[in-house]
Amino acid sequence: MAYLFETEEHAAIRATARRFAQAQIAPHGAEWEEAEEFPVELYRIAATAGLTGIGYPERVGGQGGDLSHVMVACEELVIAGRSVGTVVGLGSHGIALPPIVRFGTPEQCERFVRPCLADGKIAALAITEPGGGSDVAAIATRAELAGDHYVITGAKTFITSGARADFVTAAVRTGGPGHAGISLVVIERGTPGFEVSKKLKKTGWWASDTAELRFDACRVPIANRIGPENGAFPMIMMNFANERLMLAGQCVAIAELAYQESIRYARERSAFGKPLTGFQVTRHKLADMASRIAAARALTGEAVTRVLRGEQAAGLAAMAKNIATDMCSFVCDQAVQIHGGYGYMRETLVERLYRDARLYPIGGGTREIMNEVIAKTERY
Ligand SMILES: Cc1cc2nc3c(=O)[nH]c(=O)nc-3n(C[C@H](O)[C@H](O)[C@H](O)COP(=O)(O)OP(=O)(O)OC[C@H]3O[C@@H](n4cnc5c(N)ncnc54)[C@H](O)[C@@H]3O)c2cc1C
Repeated sequence: MAYLFETEEHAAIRATARRFAQAQIAPHGAEWEEAEEFPVELYRIAATAGLTGIGYPERVGGQGGDLSHVMVACEELVIAGRSVGTVVGLGSHGIALPPIVRFGTPEQCERFVRPCLADGKIAALAITEPGGGSDVAAIATRAELAGDHYVITGAKTFITSGARADFVTAAVRTGGPGHAGISLVVIERGTPGFEVSKKLKKTGWWASDTAELRFDACRVPIANRIGPENGAFPMIMMNFANERLMLAGQCVAIAELAYQESIRYARERSAFGKPLTGFQVTRHKLADMASRIAAARALTGEAVTRVLRGEQAAGLAAMAKNIATDMCSFVCDQAVQIHGGYGYMRETLVERLYRDARLYPIGGGTREIMNEVIAKTERY
């Protein structure tokens, strides 16, 4: 099923992304997940194929399009590629670059955005710190002004593509306490004092690298600051709203894949002399999965449409993320159940999807924080 907002343009993007995923990801995805890494070369291949630039304006080297185009491309990559870790690793630019495109200077777009979209340079977003991720206003990484540089000291953790990133778009404290003292700066790999302190092992998303980073008196030019000093908090919040919809879209895609795998298996597998689809209980499981996927897709699609119309949809985006997250956990759990013992085996795709699904109530703002956003926008 497609989103209601889709046009022929979306269909063409789906076809391109599907072809790319079938050729470049699917044959190796399972192996990369086990190896906890995909080849770094894939970033360049995806950029050359024009996939990385979807959703970015042509003035910065993108293919044009908007969030709706990003959503359908991502869905095809997940479904046809069958390796969520690879897709989220390849897509880390999707949260690292938008603040630069929106609030950076043309020079910053040329230096940082274009090389990612055209050549496959790797970008990561670094907000979360070992001391906490939900309370963004409490960021502790310090940036002290010293002439025409900031001297940055602190640490970030759980950073997607952090180990291999050419640069990170990082939130740092340039001012006093609270949300009004935070700036965004681009910190480049190779800057003395910038170190990948740990590559983290995770429950799911194995093929994507997730890292802890350390900044030890890193000297970063003021020219790398994105937007006004101490003005990052609203930029970060705006970025989150889009990220939440992208994550909701990933949940829909993962669930769709788990559902398709379950139908296939239930038709092939026999018990008591008939295929599993011969049991009403299996058919009802599949029907519940299909219904919840359709509901999450409908809400996610509506939220995307409203965002693209310029409406204030932060609350709706948070609702979509929670609904899609719960749906994805439910669907992947049911998929494992339908697969029986094979569903618990590492060789089975739905076993991996079940683990991948666990990230979504945590990453990009937890389930509880989404409810805080909803409570605020609903003004209880
Ligand atoms: C695989 C993975 C990839 C990630 N990628 C990135 C990335 O690329 N860049 C990045 O910056 N971050 C990234 N993150 C971090 C992610 O965004 C944070 O984990 C998330 O925001 C939660 O922060 P935390 O882990 O510090 O949990 P905490 O903030 O410590 O929260 C712990 C628990 O307390 C609850 N809680 C906290 N505050 C409240 C409250 N006010 N009301 C009710 N409950 C509350 C939370 O909901 C949660 O259940 C990633 C995380 C993972 C696991």
